Amino acid sequence: MNINNVVFERSFGTSSQLPASTLPEIAFAGRSNVGKSSLLNKLFNRKGLAKVSQTPGKTATINFFACDGVRFVDLPGYGYAKVSKSEKERWSELIEGYFNQDRDLALVVSLVDIRHAASALDEGMVGFLREVGLPFAVALTKADKLSRQQQMKQRSAIMRQLGLASDVPVVVCSSEKGTGIDELRALIAAAATR
Ligand code: GDP
Repeated sequence: MNINNVVFERSFGTSSQLPASTLPEIAFAGRSNVGKSSLLNKLFNRKGLAKVSQTPGKTATINFFACDGVRFVDLPGYGYAKVSKSEKERWSELIEGYFNQDRDLALVVSLVDIRHAASALDEGMVGFLREVGLPFAVALTKADKLSRQQQMKQRSAIMRQLGLASDVPVVVCSSEKGTGIDELRALIAAAATR
């Protein structure tokens, strides 16, 4: 996969607008402000591909990107407290609607901030992925904010908390420093061509 071939396709505001899967999909999920847009931009080496926000809780949409026969699905960030009830209902509709469709999911990358314990919503997301048997990996974001030793400690704690089996890939990432980006690209390439 040549990352330079990425193109933004479309944003969707409701799950009923989503076209049927025509390509293997790599979906990215995580709480609002976890660093999902920054990670997508880093993966593709493209600054403005996904919008990085200073203030969390931007409007919920599902964004599709395509790159060399693989579709990248940017799911709306969940769990931001300070948005209206109707906006919260929109993210759950989008996220649940997406996962309830019969999609060609090659991999779900579940993002968790390495500095904190996983939130109840992160636990819910990983629990769901395990329950329905979707292939998934965990990306621990913002690793540059911790020392190497703290990273290892948090990695174990979060893995334990999420009850991750040893075959679930866990990648320590930093979009600032580029940590984990090649590893994530390799996981994605392997999943997309399986
Ligand atoms: P999103 O809401 O999950 O898409 O998160 P964003 O990518 O918009 O990032 C939220 C905030 O975290 C922004 O202020 C980013 O600059 C910051 N951020 C994202 N990734 C990293 C990282 O790897 N390291 C550091 N130090 N900050 C990050």
